[in-house]
Amino acid sequence: MRGALIKRVDPWHLAGRGGAVEGVLGAGRLGRLGAMATPLGGFDISLRFDRMDGQAAAVGAAVMVRLSVRGRVQTVCQRCLEPLDLPVEVDGTVLVARSDAEARALDGDTEALVVDVGEMLELDDLVQDEVMLALPFAPRHEPGECASHDHHKGDRIDGASAHDDQTDPVLAHRNREVVVEPEEKRTNNPFAVLAALQGGDGEEN
Ligand SMILES: [Zn+2]
Repeated sequence: MRGALIKRVDPWHLAGRGGAVEGVLGAGRLGRLGAMATPLGGFDISLRFDRMDGQAAAVGAAVMVRLSVRGRVQTVCQRCLEPLDLPVEVDGTVLVARSDAEARALDGDTEALVVDVGEMLELDDLVQDEVMLALPFAPRHEPGECASHDHHKGDRIDGASAHDDQTDPVLAHRNREVVVEPEEKRTNNPFAVLAALQGGDGEEN
């Protein structure tokens, strides 16, 4: 069983050694997927870091990150509006540059992130960004499979209770996250500040 994925790395340090990082990104660290999808357990992550030596001088400092993500999420089918489990299989490449100017110089088809000198690459953010890009815009069951989910709608049949036992921990976990997250992140989450400003009737300071 693999351990938890390290939270942040120095890409240049790792790339200088042809380094790799592996681990599990737990569901509690995937909160940004939020409205799009609920993680069904943690994601298996592999990252490989390589220097882009041999490129033009402008991109000499960039690091190439090869990213692999494996997991499952639950989202909502846009045809029948019933829960839909989807595999998450992302195999991507992200370039990391030292400055906006360097990132622009890289252009091409590959996304480039900027990590300033002295800063670290935040792996939770990197993984969640790539997963959100990979998730389908309008997820749907396979043709013909929507009807098979009709029995979830209301009728309590014997077979459903066993299924509920499996899904309840996931739903409970999600609900707990929804409740806990705003308080945990209040001090450092700019969106919490925004929400407070927009709410207007909260605490004043
Ligand atoms: Zn459906």
